[in-house]
Amino acid sequence: MYTIDLTGKTALIAGVANHRSLAWAVAKELARSGVRLMVSYQSDRFRDGVQKLTHEIPETVLVEMDVASDESMDRAFGQIQEQVGRIDYLVHAVAFAKKEDLEGAFYDTSRDGYHLALDISAYSLLAMTHRALPMMGEGASIVSLSYIAAQRAVPNYNVMGTAKAALEHATRQLAHELGPRGIRVNCVSAGPVSTLSARGITGFTSMLGYHSEKAPLRRNITPHEVGMAALFLLSPLASGITGETLYVDAGYHITI
Ligand code: NAD
Repeated sequence: MYTIDLTGKTALIAGVANHRSLAWAVAKELARSGVRLMVSYQSDRFRDGVQKLTHEIPETVLVEMDVASDESMDRAFGQIQEQVGRIDYLVHAVAFAKKEDLEGAFYDTSRDGYHLALDISAYSLLAMTHRALPMMGEGASIVSLSYIAAQRAVPNYNVMGTAKAALEHATRQLAHELGPRGIRVNCVSAGPVSTLSARGITGFTSMLGYHSEKAPLRRNITPHEVGMAALFLLSPLASGITGETLYVDAGYHITI
């Protein structure tokens, strides 16, 4: 079993909906390494579930944050400033698109659906970074979660592929801007995992089967593997890595 001691560090993790969430897998790895957690959830609807998940992790701060609302984000970061005052690690694991925009023809995407998906799934990384920066110092780092549809055409993934391409570009642009301050920005491109959001993609089950057949490791990845990769990228073990998209997909991306 690997160990890394990050005692004294703090992390804000956005995107925990339930025990299947990739954000939760990252949170568990960080907590195991001694990091103090601040976990944000989207709305009331998720509060009790997230509270139950985190109740065994001492000193966890729960924050309500809807990334579609500037007011909600200002309130959330105000609360963090007051209660903790410092963010060493920022984890962005938030995405949303309308169900009808995750099936059928990409060219049928409405203007509204396009804006919504890009706003929640990509712009939110900038909006979070902007508010987190006053609490981040040298050695801090940021990780977000992408998918290979940022680079390839994937049936039904449609506008979410555009959003992931924007997210990966934002990773590079932010890495360029924040590097001189000693802050690193990276992205994990995960293979498919059955979560609440993933199940909203039409044909997701066949996607799982296709990935496991084609991937060099001949299997799908586990949330734990995403958690470990995010921990690595956030930690000083990755001190020379920034602006990178790291594939955690059992090697699927190298296949034709
Ligand atoms: P999930 O449903 O558990 O997490 C998505 C989260 O986004 C939820 O917690 C949801 O509440 C949050 N969210 C949506 N709209 C929001 C808003 N307006 N404000 C705040 N939060 C909001 O699913 P997941 O698969 O764990 O997704 C986490 C990240 O991983 C996403 O960026 C997703 O695209 C990415 N990802 C997932 C897979 C996969 O197959 N599951 C693969 C690659 C990348």
